[in-house]
Amino acid sequence: MTEATISLCPVCNGFAELQASCRSCGSRLLDAGRLADFFGAYSPYEPIDESKLSNGFLDLAERICLHVGWCQACNSEQLYGIGEWS
Ligand SMILES: [Zn+2]
Ligand SMILES: [Zn+2]
Repeated sequence: MTEATISLCPVCNGFAELQASCRSCGSRLLDAGRLADFFGAYSPYEPIDESKLSNGFLDLAERICLHVGWCQACNSEQLYGIGEWS
């Protein structure tokens, strides 16, 4: 472990892979990283598209680690919330 973190997201900690399918085509999504990391690379010039966040995950943000899934088939990214272990 190289960093102290309160996050217990199994994906971030390498215990599990992102298990998510594309909402459009059903292909397996690739894990493009944590949302914070993803937008950290793009912000502040690319504000978060709120339409992507209107899925209820933000209400549970304290317990959910948002990951960006990437669908190669659709060439698009989709957000997925990973339940953090307690
Ligand atoms: Zn995570
Ligand atoms: Zn797709």
